[in-house]
Amino acid sequence: MESLSNDQAWMREALAQARAAAEAGEVPVGAVVVRDGIIVGRGGNAPVGSLDPTAHAEINALRDAARQLGNYRLDDCTLYVTLEPCAMCSGAALHARVARVVYGAAEPKTGAAGSVLDLFAEPRLNHHTQIVRGVLADECSALLAQFFQQRRRQNQAAAKAAHPLRDDALRTPDARFAELPGYPWAPRYASDWPSLQGLRLHYLDEGPVDAPLTWLCLHGAPVWSYWFRHQLPVFLAAGHRVVAPDLIGFGKSDKPKKAGFHSLETHRQILLDLLQQCDLQRCVLVVQGAAAPLGLSLAQAEPARFIGGLLLGTGPARKPAAEEARVYDAPFPDAGHRAALRAGAVTGGSAQEAAWLGAARDFWHADGPGQAGPGRALALADAQALASGRRGCVPPAALPAWGQFVPEPRADVALQAVEYFSPS
Ligand SMILES: [Zn+2]
Repeated sequence: MESLSNDQAWMREALAQARAAAEAGEVPVGAVVVRDGIIVGRGGNAPVGSLDPTAHAEINALRDAARQLGNYRLDDCTLYVTLEPCAMCSGAALHARVARVVYGAAEPKTGAAGSVLDLFAEPRLNHHTQIVRGVLADECSALLAQFFQQRRRQNQAAAKAAHPLRDDALRTPDARFAELPGYPWAPRYASDWPSLQGLRLHYLDEGPVDAPLTWLCLHGAPVWSYWFRHQLPVFLAAGHRVVAPDLIGFGKSDKPKKAGFHSLETHRQILLDLLQQCDLQRCVLVVQGAAAPLGLSLAQAEPARFIGGLLLGTGPARKPAAEEARVYDAPFPDAGHRAALRAGAVTGGSAQEAAWLGAARDFWHADGPGQAGPGRALALADAQALASGRRGCVPPAALPAWGQFVPEPRADVALQAVEYFSPS
């Protein structure tokens, strides 16, 4: 009869097999077969890697021992295994006629050495195999618990990375965005910010995080981050950072089926989360005309993050060229995807928008030391909305599928802006 300390020593060898199994991505169970103080067989759990449902640690160790000893009967051997054997492995141990089976942790769901059933206590099956239970049980079960905890975490991370689609939302197929001219930037996604309520937001985030300037580009309707494609290379070439989200309901972001989702306040909360989550600093707010109230309200909420604003393209609307039409139609394969356009999201005209715009005008015109306002606003192209209270604006010409379409501003606008806002 082997002593308890010997049993523990051999169980540590079985634990080493279990750890090796874990490293191979298998549930960590390990076994060794010992005869006359020598290990004659080793095995780790390997059903996944070997595509073999019978490749349990005990079976692998028994096979190894039988090969090494040149005998399918293992009469004077002890099988050490970190987890209580199942019915198959208990049966195999009985067939091999091992003298003793020593196991570590009990297995309440499948254990056949006392937990669910006890094959070794069945006198019609077993005449001589002894069972020893609970050797290094804590270590053996801790290894399993750690493995399953890690796998749970990995599964959760994978589920998070997959950004599951909400039942009440649509997601434009990626194929609709294939081969967009002049838009080489890698997509970034978020769905776990509180304001997103599980919807997937798409955004671009290019350039160094510690850049001297961050251009936060907010599109209006019906366009998306693509609208800034002529500007982005200019900002990046200056060594600046560019962050350009697609508002929910637009571009590559998820599209709630119900138009009721689209309140200005909802979009504002999402953008405030973007400021925090991406920790945007030293921002110049770049807004396409209709998004101005929304964008300007962000700067008022987080004035320390902003140094200026660039207001672009309030109109007039025009009919897009065929290639532009393809790109700007891409996010909206059918009417179901166009809830944001039906809701007039971002295009505004609401009392809320008017209030924001009024407050923004006072805020952005505040100047001098001690003032909260950034004090630097540059209105380019025909964006006179902020200054004029929108009176001078040409009424947007509605296109059947989308509503207003404003042409993309050219790179020279961005060059002018870089010159104007770059820290001297
Ligand atoms: Zn088994």
